[in-house]
Parts: sequence; structure tokens; C-alpha cells
Amino acid sequence: MIEFRRVNKIYEGAVRAQALTDFNLTIGDGEFIFIIGDSGAGKSTLIKLLMGEEKATSGSVLVDGVNVGKLRSWQLPKYRRHFGVIFQDFRLLQNYTVFENVAFAQRVVSASKKGMLKRVPRILSVVGLEEKQKSYPSQLSGGEQQRVALARAVVNGPQYLLADEPTGNLDPANSLEVMRLLEDFNRSGTTVIVVTHDAAMVDQFRKRVVTMKDGQVLSDMQEGGYVHA
Ligand code: ADP
Repeated sequence: MIEFRRVNKIYEGAVRAQALTDFNLTIGDGEFIFIIGDSGAGKSTLIKLLMGEEKATSGSVLVDGVNVGKLRSWQLPKYRRHFGVIFQDFRLLQNYTVFENVAFAQRVVSASKKGMLKRVPRILSVVGLEEKQKSYPSQLSGGEQQRVALARAVVNGPQYLLADEPTGNLDPANSLEVMRLLEDFNRSGTTVIVVTHDAAMVDQFRKRVVTMKDGQVLSDMQEGGYVHA
């Protein structure tokens, strides 16, 4: 479970910016949730706090009871293994094949070579890329590249899948395919959090939708349209 409890985040720079204001949000295990909001609403800040890249100015971010802001830097790599993350720009290693891109995520957690040889092809087949294992990212379409990124994100079986504008660079057909895969992973138990400003995409899926504005929750709607408790 993820809990943001009265979180304030103020960036003290040349210009002081309050990115989150008394922000409260609870995400239960196994949920599929969209987080939407205009640019500047605080979505990226929410992700950074969750990943331990930034600390809250006050309040707490709890993940399975662990206060993320209290983790030491040496504890963060292990903590972050609970999350698979995909981004709008895919972030694949260009000089590595599809197989290697996915296997690399396994090496980081020092999986055995034998386990890796089994799991990488299996996950690539789940995302429909078993034929492309030896290709390089530049030889793939945007949709295929995002599916590689997705395979890499889930190959270690993370508890949470965090997608930051996952369809931002994709056409509608590929967007739909990536979203369907996110749904599949959700069905198999992964908590999925999709941050986006693509309202059309959100409308196609009947999921919980949290709308952020000026660092706060503007609305929190469950599938059918009622307000989430
Ligand atoms: P979103 O992802 O919804 O566009 P952000 O979390 O990026 O929103 O930004 C929320 C607010 O915090 C904005 O006003 C933004 O300018 C400010 N902000 C974000 N990151 C920083 C930073 N590193 N330093 C100063 N201000 C920042």
C-alpha cells in the first residue's frame, strides 16, 4: 500500500515553488490508478517522492509502512526494486539488443544467468516481441520500444508498476496495446500507477482517476464515477 499523508513539498530555488500542498492519497495493493493533471500540477513531484529522488518538506510517504523520506541513500537501490518504471521516452540502451535491454535489469539485481535465460524470453513473449530479441531499439517502432521497456520494468516481478506518460510518444493503436498490457499485469496482481495528461486515454479505461491541481487532489473518481473513499 502507498500512502501520502499530508505531504507538502516546497522547492527552494531561485524561485520558491510549492509543488504539493497537504497532499493525501492512498493506493491499495492491486489497484489500477490514473493520475492526471495539467502541467505543473505536481505529478512528477509525486513520482520523485515515491522513488525517493526527492524528500517531502513535511508529511510522510509510506510504502508498505516504510517511510520513504527516511531511507538512507544506500537503502534506496533495494527499495526501488519494488517498482518497475516506464517513461514516455522509453530509455532503452541503444547499443544493446532487445534481449540485453531486458536482461540488464536482471543483472542489476544479480539474478542467476540460468534464471535470466529463461525469464527474458518468457517476458518478451508476453509483450509480443519474441521475434525481436536480437533487434536493436533503433530497428523497432515506438510501440515496440515501449513494450521492451515494459518487459524490462516487469521482468523482476515488481510489486508496483509506475508509468510516466507511457503513451506520450505513441499513436492511438500502440497506446491501446501498451495500456492493455498494463491491464494484464494489473490482473496478475501488480499495482499499476499511470501518470498522464492524456484524458482521451483515461476515458477509454474504466479505472480509478485522481485529478491533481496545484499540488492537491481535485477529484478522486472510482470506475463508475463515484468518489473514492
Ligand atoms: P507536473 O509533473 O504535474 O507538471 P511538477 O511536479 O513537475 O508538475 O511541478 C509542480 C510545481 O513544482 C511546478 O510549479 C514546478 O515549476 C515546480 N517544480 C518542479 N520541480 C522543481 C524543481 N526541481 N525546482 C523548483 N521548482 C520545481
